Amino acid sequence: MSDLTKLTLKTALDGLASKSFSSVELTKAHVEAVESARVLNAFVLETPEQAIDMAKASDARRASGSAGPLDGAPLGIKDLFCTKGIRSTAGSKIIGKFIPTYESTITANLWRDGAVMLGKLNMDEFAMGSSNETSAWGPVVNPWRTRGGNAKLTPGGSSGGSASAVAAELCLGATATDTGGSIRQPASFTGTVGIKPTYGRCSRWGVVAFASSLDQAGPMARTVEDAAILLTSMAGHDPKDSTSLAVETPDFASFVGKSVKGLRIGVPKEYRVDNMPAEIDALWEQGIAWLKDAGCEIVEVSLPHTKYALPAYYIVAPAEASSNLARYDGMRYGLRVEGANLTDTYEKSRAEGFGAEVKRRIMIGAYVLSAGYYDAYYVKALKVRRRIADDFDQAFEKVDALLTPTAPSAAFSLGDRSDDPVAMYLNDIFTVTVNLAGLPGMSVPAGLDATGLPLGLQLIGRALDEGTLFSLGGALEKAADFRAKPQKWW
Ligand code: GLN
Repeated sequence: MSDLTKLTLKTALDGLASKSFSSVELTKAHVEAVESARVLNAFVLETPEQAIDMAKASDARRASGSAGPLDGAPLGIKDLFCTKGIRSTAGSKIIGKFIPTYESTITANLWRDGAVMLGKLNMDEFAMGSSNETSAWGPVVNPWRTRGGNAKLTPGGSSGGSASAVAAELCLGATATDTGGSIRQPASFTGTVGIKPTYGRCSRWGVVAFASSLDQAGPMARTVEDAAILLTSMAGHDPKDSTSLAVETPDFASFVGKSVKGLRIGVPKEYRVDNMPAEIDALWEQGIAWLKDAGCEIVEVSLPHTKYALPAYYIVAPAEASSNLARYDGMRYGLRVEGANLTDTYEKSRAEGFGAEVKRRIMIGAYVLSAGYYDAYYVKALKVRRRIADDFDQAFEKVDALLTPTAPSAAFSLGDRSDDPVAMYLNDIFTVTVNLAGLPGMSVPAGLDATGLPLGLQLIGRALDEGTLFSLGGALEKAADFRAKPQKWW
């Protein structure tokens, strides 16, 4: 039955529909795969009993002719999503053993459509990180290794558990979130597909907040079509999230395979950064050629404020985080370290409960929001953010989508950058702009570097135009014909 884990979500759904196998069989195969891959540390909580119960219920629905669009498909859920009755930690010690009494809207939508939950996926603490090394549960290991090498590589972050689980065929797809690149960069590092939808496309209700004006959930999957199927279920207006958009959710899968002939694709010249590995540049050129072959018109565009995006992001995101994380005071959730008095208890709980990266962000955030520096840093960053969004607006007068690399490197070794926060932040250089502007962005696996590690290309679209990204992503996927898989060593 282990071959059942090799299916794409689409082929698995087809197999379930044609009764080639049951959801219980499909789910058991995945539960076994999860159990045999613990060395990857992708899951922080396995829920096999729940999974089998959900699979049985799914088989019963199918037998009675009432199966939903995802019925019987086993998925992994990033631990940032609150799941009712199931421990949800956001990768942090401070949340401890928190068991939500409610379900996030996104996961509720997936269960409504019949999906099966395999467990909760590891992630950087509060989704702060690019390598999954800030997790209170320890780093996630990338199933990919360099050719002939055995060094442990990062799957990227913060959705490292999602990326690793999807790439290692432990689940048919996973939920993830992206505040500055946390869906797209791990997708690039693991040869998977990830899309961060337009801000407001997916409800943030029940998703632990990092930086509320940037946070957005989305799927990770092994094909563009699978990502489209998942996003169609996840998205939708939610009155419980005031920033959720009251728009229709298209059938995103219907865009995959559509002709991209005549689309104008912008190539932003500011994304040709110094010190970018030549192979990434070459892959970008290759991507341009593929889209040209598919009938697209390539246009050079300028996004002049790109160089300010990373500094602006690393002001806005920590500012919002410092405010959001004020609620973890040892009183209401998780960890409490008793002190001599109330203030002392707050201080001890926060000192003990938060990891180093989260503390760094809280301190930066508190600083840029403090009375004396508010205008100089926070307000300035908001102005830069506006300029960045304007750059995109102007570009989208001339083009339908943009093509860039997803990240300036392939997966790096665990430990490589963990003592240099700035080097780590630089990995987000191509992804944060999209969050600052609220636009949709997708990473599609496009090739391997000289050492055999996957590299992704990023497509950026107009607000609410994920459909075009799915068409272009499908075209890139077809042209790249990316079939490489990690060699199983776990
Ligand atoms: N790496 C970025 C950060 O640490 C993005 C994280 C994310 O998208 N959640 O802030």
